[in-house]
Amino acid sequence: MAHVVIIGGGFAGVWSAAGAALARGDADLRITLIAPNEHLVLRPRLYEPEPDLAKVALSRVLDPIGVEHLRASVSTIDTGRRVVVADGQEVGYDRLVLAAGSRLVQPEGLPGADRLFDIDTLDGARRLADHLRDRTDHTAVVVGAGFVGLEAATALAAHGRVLLVDRSAVVGHQLGPGPREEIEAALDELGVERRLGTTVVEVGDGYAVLADGTEVEADVVVWSVGMRASELTRQISDELDHLGRVPVDQQLRALPEVFVAGDTAAAPFDAEHTVMQACQHATPLGKVAGYNAAADLLGVPLRDFTSGPYVTCLDLGGAGAIFTRGWDRRVVAAGAAAKEVKTRINQAIHPPVDDAHEILAAADLVYLDLPFFPRAEEESVPVA
Ligand SMILES: Cc1cc2nc3c(=O)[nH]c(=O)nc-3n(C[C@H](O)[C@H](O)[C@H](O)COP(=O)(O)OP(=O)(O)OC[C@H]3O[C@@H](n4cnc5c(N)ncnc54)[C@H](O)[C@@H]3O)c2cc1C
Repeated sequence: MAHVVIIGGGFAGVWSAAGAALARGDADLRITLIAPNEHLVLRPRLYEPEPDLAKVALSRVLDPIGVEHLRASVSTIDTGRRVVVADGQEVGYDRLVLAAGSRLVQPEGLPGADRLFDIDTLDGARRLADHLRDRTDHTAVVVGAGFVGLEAATALAAHGRVLLVDRSAVVGHQLGPGPREEIEAALDELGVERRLGTTVVEVGDGYAVLADGTEVEADVVVWSVGMRASELTRQISDELDHLGRVPVDQQLRALPEVFVAGDTAAAPFDAEHTVMQACQHATPLGKVAGYNAAADLLGVPLRDFTSGPYVTCLDLGGAGAIFTRGWDRRVVAAGAAAKEVKTRINQAIHPPVDDAHEILAAADLVYLDLPFFPRAEEESVPVA
């Protein structure tokens, strides 16, 4: 029997599995997802105080749709022999979907790096939550004022003093100037201090040292300086982009028998942009890549990847949130109104479970512009 193998059990891998099961219908086709984890981890929720709420058992999605789960890590992809090696075991495939995601960029040679915290993985977020549990007076240093660092800093500000450090001269450098005023206002409101144009060069017991030699108090230092695609991408392509992602075509194919999805894929979004390393793109990428991997084997027409409009919803803790539209990230909702949207997004990213019909119907719905997303035209949502 022909075999579709999917590497990764995040948003892209899980939705690839559902997409492949959708294309399979009643045909004979084996689908296997390989990932070491027992749960789909909802990484966008890891800044929340209870990270264990941010997970869904993979079996509740995969079992109803007839997808096998091999709990293992892939070390080798042999595209010549069409085999992957997972925990020493060879697994053959006819079509492969690489969806092994991304990881936080780690500091190189930083003294005290073992003391760093992060919210990149469930284990990391648990460790941070456990460390701060029942403390109301911590001093936290957050390194990296990008999307994740801003969510971490504003969440931590609810329980203590926070210092946000970034090499850039501005906060939210990658987000561009569109939402900066609202972000700075939120940081001011929450009393989050900033040290810009610098970084942390050493971490010790209760302190961190900045690049200019200044020592600052720090009960925790949260490292949050960007994400890089899984190293497995190197086994698929020599032409990775600056995030380590594999270039793919509109049908998410990288090689004749290999499709790529999620944070490992540099898929075209429009004439100017590739997709973001974001679950808002990982989900539709997975649906299309998995569908196409199965469709290719079954002689069914393949689907082009088209995403919904690009939006951003950034949680700003006690100062609410901001919701932006477009690549210039125009703020169309802020404060409590945007926080309500964020709360709904954080629920909407949970996949349906236990019901094959619902899971396959969701896999068929690629384009995501949720009805509760604020629209610029309406102007009815108050901007704080
Ligand atoms: C704190 C935080 C907040 C975020 N907020 C948002 C947000 O608000 N909006 C948004 O759109 N995005 C957000 N993101 C980004 C989003 O979480 C990622 O883009 C998304 O998780 C990518 O999904 P993925 O399936 O491609 O990869 P991942 O979620 O990284 O999953 C990868 C999977 O592959 C598995 N894997 C890795 N290596 C191997 C291997 N060698 N063999 C087998 N399996 C392997 C892993 O175990 C995992 O199951 C946030 C991320 C973080 C960390």
